[in-house]
Amino acid sequence: MRNKLILPRRDGHTHTEFSPHGSREPTEQFIQRAVDLGFEIYSLTEHPPLPPGFDDPTPDKTCGISWQELQPYLEHCQELKTQFANQIEIRAGLEVDYIPGFEPDTRDMLRKYGPHLEDSLLSVHFLEGKGGWRCVDHSPEDFQEGLVSAYGSVEAVHEAYWLVVKQAVLADLGPYKPRRLGHLSLTHKFQLKHPLTNPQQFRPQVLEILDLIKSKSMELDLNAAGLFKPDCREIYPAPWIIQEAIRRDIPFVYGSDTHSVKGVGQGFKEAEQIFAASAG
Ligand SMILES: [Zn+2]
Ligand SMILES: [Zn+2]
Repeated sequence: MRNKLILPRRDGHTHTEFSPHGSREPTEQFIQRAVDLGFEIYSLTEHPPLPPGFDDPTPDKTCGISWQELQPYLEHCQELKTQFANQIEIRAGLEVDYIPGFEPDTRDMLRKYGPHLEDSLLSVHFLEGKGGWRCVDHSPEDFQEGLVSAYGSVEAVHEAYWLVVKQAVLADLGPYKPRRLGHLSLTHKFQLKHPLTNPQQFRPQVLEILDLIKSKSMELDLNAAGLFKPDCREIYPAPWIIQEAIRRDIPFVYGSDTHSVKGVGQGFKEAEQIFAASAG
């Protein structure tokens, strides 16, 4: 047995009342739910504002919080830490986007706000597509229209995604670069509608990325949200990737990636089982 088979009771990827695409329920209700479920550590990882000059591809521009809200969000994290100090350890963080070409902006943002962050994620949500940037996880129709049609095939979209993930691992984002990569294999979100002919096609690219993650002492988000997406039904990363990561002793942190109170801790049991089975 090379790895601890038990996942700590920690939710390392959650959104808050600040999320423009979340439920807007009070964050303290999210945390109370985590306490009730017996979690011991809870990271607040809201989407920060997108870099100036980056055009949010969602129709209602709801990818991240606004610049005016960033400071209030971080202050709210501190209030919640104090409020729940005797019940659960709260860690303030962000789910930072890696966007190729915007490294200087991301580095500047992290330099300014990094000292207030205790646990953050680095995620790839955006690829260049038809007419500009596109989210890889917006909708199956958008995936087809904005990405598959631009790249020519589902395979080519995955190839582009893995290339950006590799860049994310290698990117110099300064001393506050998040250590944990969010929902690897997010391009599987619509896999039941847009399947790969050969799911193992990108194995060499993924293994190279895992080796880089290991060499940079980074961690992975064991993100259960995909289990609940109707066109995914799979944890992020895909189980075979979890297996290869465990083989390399890459640490995992469970993440519900919840955007509502009811989603706190979602899929923790399944994540535990998949994790244990992958480590065998
Ligand atoms: Zn995300
Ligand atoms: Zn998230």
